[in-house]
Amino acid sequence: MDKATVGIIGGSGLYEIEGVEILEEISMETPWGSPSDTITIAQIGGIRAAFLPRHGRGHFILPSEVNSRANIAALKMLGVREILAFSAVGSLKDEIRPRDFVIPSQIIDRTKDRPASSFFGEGVVAHMSFADPFCGRLCKIIEPFIAARGLRLHTDEILVCIEGPAFSTRAESRLYRSWGAGIINMSVLPEAKLAREAEICYAMVCMATDYDCWKTDHADVTVDMVVGNLNANSAHAKALIREIVPTLGGGADCSCRSAMRYAVMTAPAKRNPETWAKIKTILPEL
Ligand SMILES: [Zn+2]
Repeated sequence: MDKATVGIIGGSGLYEIEGVEILEEISMETPWGSPSDTITIAQIGGIRAAFLPRHGRGHFILPSEVNSRANIAALKMLGVREILAFSAVGSLKDEIRPRDFVIPSQIIDRTKDRPASSFFGEGVVAHMSFADPFCGRLCKIIEPFIAARGLRLHTDEILVCIEGPAFSTRAESRLYRSWGAGIINMSVLPEAKLAREAEICYAMVCMATDYDCWKTDHADVTVDMVVGNLNANSAHAKALIREIVPTLGGGADCSCRSAMRYAVMTAPAKRNPETWAKIKTILPEL
């Protein structure tokens, strides 16, 4: 099996892209369990891409239930070095309108029930830098493609990640606005953290579907409107994948690729051999 170099994590329909040649479907097991679903390997402009639906095909996994360790490990084991993650988000700012695109640069973690958010622990301690949680290089590659499609694009925004599955209360939504946050979802963590631990470049393409619940003067959000926005966003996401993936495959010297080089604190003789063996399956150079 040839290695895939680009990973796409997103909605369940994203892998059905017109003009994209599907090569195989792979069922995987990792030392951390099974990923959300089978992984679709496709060829896009000479680049092999691996598609993984975050919530499974048909959407049967809650955000809190996603096995992100298995998802990221599976992609890394397939050879993925760059991930384009897609997510529907709520907007916390007037100027970020439904159907606008956002490339966030920061995250505020409001999850509370996601213990499996690191490949480390159980006898091997590591601390990596997460000051800039997204790969700046990858974000810069993506941005012009969004602008070129005539879509409204916002960059340098803060993404709040909540536990869910319920949406925020109005008081919470207003609190996040007071923190300066621009968008909100349930999906970026621990996915982004694990991608960094696996030394994969990771960027998230966020697509606004509604104004969360803070905007009381806004016409009442109907399911029809949200579904309409989701469908429009999904069509753009597919077009973006087709355009962006062929330009990827670089970044060998990106700092994400050596994020763990000095991160492991535990002395070699003290490392739990079982944990260390698992970690070596995704970080063989460590
Ligand atoms: Zn990077």
